[in-house]
Amino acid sequence: MNYLSKKAAGIEPYAAGEQPKDKQYVKLNTNENPYPPSPKAEAAFRAFDFSALNLYPAPAADGLRAAIAAAEGVPPECVFCGNGSDEILALCLPAFFDADGEGAAFADVTYSFYPVFCDFFSVPKRIVPLEEDFTLDLSKLTAAPAQGVIVANPNAPTGIGIPLPAVEAFVRENASRVVILDEAYMPFFGQSAAQLTQKYENLLVVKTFSKGYSLAGIRCGYAVGGARLIGGLERCRDCFNSYPVDAVCQAVCAAAVADGEYYARMTALVVSERERLRGALQARGFCVLPSSANFLFARHPLAAGRAVYEALRARGVLVRHFRKPRIEEFCRITVGSREQNDALLAALDGFLPRG
Ligand code: PMP
Repeated sequence: MNYLSKKAAGIEPYAAGEQPKDKQYVKLNTNENPYPPSPKAEAAFRAFDFSALNLYPAPAADGLRAAIAAAEGVPPECVFCGNGSDEILALCLPAFFDADGEGAAFADVTYSFYPVFCDFFSVPKRIVPLEEDFTLDLSKLTAAPAQGVIVANPNAPTGIGIPLPAVEAFVRENASRVVILDEAYMPFFGQSAAQLTQKYENLLVVKTFSKGYSLAGIRCGYAVGGARLIGGLERCRDCFNSYPVDAVCQAVCAAAVADGEYYARMTALVVSERERLRGALQARGFCVLPSSANFLFARHPLAAGRAVYEALRARGVLVRHFRKPRIEEFCRITVGSREQNDALLAALDGFLPRG
């Protein structure tokens, strides 16, 4: 007997970056932050009252919501918290798109969870190809017939960022439909549109604690938007899991988001390592897309993407390779600590053809 629904049996799920345990790798494949979370977040974790875990957490994560609202400069009612930004992006589909509607528009080369969410919620996909140089022509997205649009800024896996003025014009031009901005990598670009949610009611900005806040292991994300969009997410959350953010997570993330000074320093370190690594890869013949994120998307004219991935893996360095049209020649390399990046460069020097 096949007990699965047609959907469960037929869907192609998202493939997360590998997390192998067979040996210690230099792990530059899932865009984690190489630096530890804020000491204040750690203190909040240690101070957490374990005996209080018999109680359910605050359903809307009120304390965390207030801390995020203070950091973003928006009212708490404009914040929605979830179990990772993936969960929030997933909830966006039933909240803002109809199965018999015009669909969700997004780029052909972008975060590969978007098409999976669409398939899962039976929302039509309107795929808009990126330009030859992997930039996004926003006017093509505006022209796409769709109930709403999803844009990762900076984009993944390319790392290319769209400046805030262009984003604002785009949001204005798409006033009749929802614009979801996935700002997972925004800390490394610094041009967040979160404030614009107070001006444009069609805009939802989705952020995560996984990258800029070094808290990928705790699973927390949030959205900033006007009352109507936040209300839609709340309705869908309460049809699925009314306590998505656990109490420990709420306490730790509230402390993290309040420690902007620490994270500004760590982010500056990642950004300066990104620039050093970019130069070092270019010196080795790589073509590297201009990145505003904490990773670099690079291809080598003399070595295939899969070959680079496999040779690095054999040398104990993990990067991400996608077997997908247009990007098969590339590897996505997370910016690590100085030591990790040096290990990557040494591994490359072990096999790259000298041009
Ligand atoms: N958006 C993008 C573009 C991402 O790359 C990721 C991380 N894989 C996410 C969202 C999800 O991050 P998380 O669920 O850890 O918040």
